[in-house]
Amino acid sequence: ERLVSSEENSADGSIELSLRPQRLAQYIGQEKVKQNLQIFIEAARLRNEALDHVLLYGPPGLGKTTLAVVIANEMGAKLHTTSGPAIEKPGDLAAILTALEPGDVLFIDEIHRLSRVIEEILYPAMEDFVLDIMIGQGPEARSIRMELPPFTLIGATTRAGHMTAPLRDRFGVINHLEYYTISELEAIVERTAIILETPIQGNAAHEMARRSRGTPRIANRLVKRVRDVAQVRSDGTISVAIAQYALELLLVDDKGLDQVDEKILCAIIDMFNGGPVGLDTLAASIGEERLTIEDMYEPYLLQHGFLQRTPRGRVATAKAYQHLGKEPHN
Ligand code: ATP
Repeated sequence: ERLVSSEENSADGSIELSLRPQRLAQYIGQEKVKQNLQIFIEAARLRNEALDHVLLYGPPGLGKTTLAVVIANEMGAKLHTTSGPAIEKPGDLAAILTALEPGDVLFIDEIHRLSRVIEEILYPAMEDFVLDIMIGQGPEARSIRMELPPFTLIGATTRAGHMTAPLRDRFGVINHLEYYTISELEAIVERTAIILETPIQGNAAHEMARRSRGTPRIANRLVKRVRDVAQVRSDGTISVAIAQYALELLLVDDKGLDQVDEKILCAIIDMFNGGPVGLDTLAASIGEERLTIEDMYEPYLLQHGFLQRTPRGRVATAKAYQHLGKEPHN
């Protein structure tokens, strides 16, 4: 099993890679994050230093991995990619760290899933660029210290709250990625259509952006599927009519809610009288994991006013009733 992969020799050399923005100027949206990064990157380059460690957090599909690629490119550095669950043993982390060259960028996805033992090896590596490892066991055991080259760690997580404070505190730059606005998603849809050499009408791009749940990954997926329909059912151009027809086939509604979003809201309304209902009970009643609901679904539903979080549990809002065509309970 490979612990680390670098962008240039990953197997993912197909469409996904070409859709992925490579430079900050191509990265659409997240203006505040980009502005900050631009300054920090420029300063680090002027001083000829590695960029300070960067933590990116936010719901899945908002471009954390993409931003790691962009940062490495802007720094002119090599990117190494791994993830929290892939680093099981201290030796795994030691192998990754000792392979780094000065200025390299190490991207750890799902960094909140690192074990405590691994985290403790990471602290001095992040702070002082040294690696302390134990050799041997029992009375024979001894610790050896190795110097590491200066490097930048980019950590990504969907749940910053589940990271330990000592790990979080060792990141000099902490960025929260937000859901994208419809006009930003429209720009992403148009960019993707150009890369895929698919003509698209402006209103169709808007329609698809509206249904992308604030998420570029979903926007890109919709473009690919709607393009299939346009090629098979029409002349290959994505018109508004084709987009609407395809989106209906894909069961995406006009607020971008997907089937799981609807299942969550319907369960709260139909099974629990609109709430409040605890997250565990809700998860069990629809057969989803609690964490999946918390990380992937709830943030969007909360932000768009379909759901409220109260001390006694989750409550469906009037907007949710209206959207699903349900009568409010008294
Ligand atoms: P996860 O946390 O689940 O790994 P992620 O947040 O890292 O997700 P990415 O894989 O970086 O998400 O992005 C998903 C897709 O969306 C990519 O294929 C990329 O092409 C596209 N994308 C993401 N952000 C942007 C952006 N700002 N502009 C244009 N395209 C983007």
